[in-house]
Amino acid sequence: MQVKRHFSLKFVLLMPLVIALLVLALTGKNYYDSVNRDIDDEYERITEALSRASKVISAIDYSFSNYSKSSYILMLEHNIQVKDGLCQMWPIDALLLSEGRHHEIPAVDINYMLVGDASLCDPESEEYKRVSGQVSLAPVLSFLHDIDSYLLGIHYIDREGYLMSSPDTYARSITAELLATLKARPYWQQTANNRDLITVTGPAPMPTTSVLVLSMTMPVYQGEVLQGMLSLDISYDDILDTHGKLAGKLGIVDTGFLSLPDNAMRTLDLELEGARGSHTLFYQFDLAKEIRNFFIFERYSLAVVAFIYVFSVIVLFFINTRVEHGYFKELAAKDPMTGLLNRRGLKAFLKTAQHSDYIALAVFDIDNFKSINDTYGHDVGDTVISHVADQITLNIRQSDVAARIGGEEFVIYMTGNDKALLQKGMTRVQLAIVATSADAVESGFTISGGVEIVTKDEERGFDSLFKAADEKLYQAKTTGKDKLVF
Ligand code: GH3
Ligand code: MG
Ligand code: MG
Repeated sequence: MQVKRHFSLKFVLLMPLVIALLVLALTGKNYYDSVNRDIDDEYERITEALSRASKVISAIDYSFSNYSKSSYILMLEHNIQVKDGLCQMWPIDALLLSEGRHHEIPAVDINYMLVGDASLCDPESEEYKRVSGQVSLAPVLSFLHDIDSYLLGIHYIDREGYLMSSPDTYARSITAELLATLKARPYWQQTANNRDLITVTGPAPMPTTSVLVLSMTMPVYQGEVLQGMLSLDISYDDILDTHGKLAGKLGIVDTGFLSLPDNAMRTLDLELEGARGSHTLFYQFDLAKEIRNFFIFERYSLAVVAFIYVFSVIVLFFINTRVEHGYFKELAAKDPMTGLLNRRGLKAFLKTAQHSDYIALAVFDIDNFKSINDTYGHDVGDTVISHVADQITLNIRQSDVAARIGGEEFVIYMTGNDKALLQKGMTRVQLAIVATSADAVESGFTISGGVEIVTKDEERGFDSLFKAADEKLYQAKTTGKDKLVF
């Protein structure tokens, strides 16, 4: 039996930690991949949304540009009022509501307003005539702005200075000063220059509010004459909202004017068909938020990591105690000097041993050992004992067992189906010890033994077999030694 080294406490705690860290690293990689996948998905969603918005404004631009003056005067269908020096016009349905004529309200909520100089309200003015035709396009504005929640509004700013806007909230809040400055804004000229193209600007706060908008603008030309400008407001926060999917925020920046923030990652230059702009999409990396998100998203995997750690520690502790237990058991069963079993070990072995037909138990005792001790000293005596043990071990088979049960007394157990072979085996051991005895002590020495051989069916216990063999040993000692008595 070999004594195994049990695991150190360091190993018990660190080995599972290494395994847990490996699994943690895999979990981290998994999280990293999923964040990247989510960013890809969001980018795809955003570019799709923006390209849909660009189709909306292109479609309206097409309608406006191809509009030919209608003789049908729609103004009769509108509410008209002058407020704060501005003329406001809006569809009649609100009026219908107030008069209780619900059945006449169209199924689609038409919500827009025209606002311009007070003269716009005068049916005789040039502006009134101009707008009375264009207003037929207003319901389209209203319908299209409603198709996606991130479309905040669509405006048409006419070269004459009036504004057609859907929904009506923006037009309602507009002041004469603001209206006067609209055409002076830089993007008006920029848009006019990008004929047949969409100009993307922003994000910038919508006038009179703090709502950030990205604007898509297109000029409306009739022939070579600029008629006005269409503008589509896209809610910056709405379009970038990931609904908690990602820890960091998404952003869009016009790199023509501003630089990207330091923590911008995964940048993607926006390329929209038919649009001009220098916008870049980016992901704002925030380590603290990312770690928090990691713990929330990977909580089950992390629980598994913790479980793996605790489980491995427990398993190693368990193995440790088992190994230790076995080690101490082995210590108690072994003779430390020779490594052979001691009496207790031999007895324990015999209890569970699978015997063949015959069992042979021999008791060997070195002859005149006292005089070896006396002549050469105790150390040489010890060497002789160890030599005997080695020779026994060398000359017995795997299924045989030897024990040292007293100072220089040994017990050998053999089992087999042939009695004669067992006798031969014991004799081989005795002869080998004697033949090599000079290796241990220069004078050499002899050894005697008593051998008891029984069939396994006799079921004689150790004590009985030992007693019989010991008696035969006595016979050998008293009849000249250096022999075996069977
Ligand atoms: P016999 O031939 O009759 O066996 O004579 P003997 O001298 O060998 O007598 P006995 O078997 O009684 O000898 C036992 C001696 O063995 C007594 C003791 O001094 C010695 N002895 C016992 N254990 C050890 C040990 O571990 N080391 C050494 N060196 N001597 C031991
Ligand atoms: Mg003795
Ligand atoms: Mg002796």
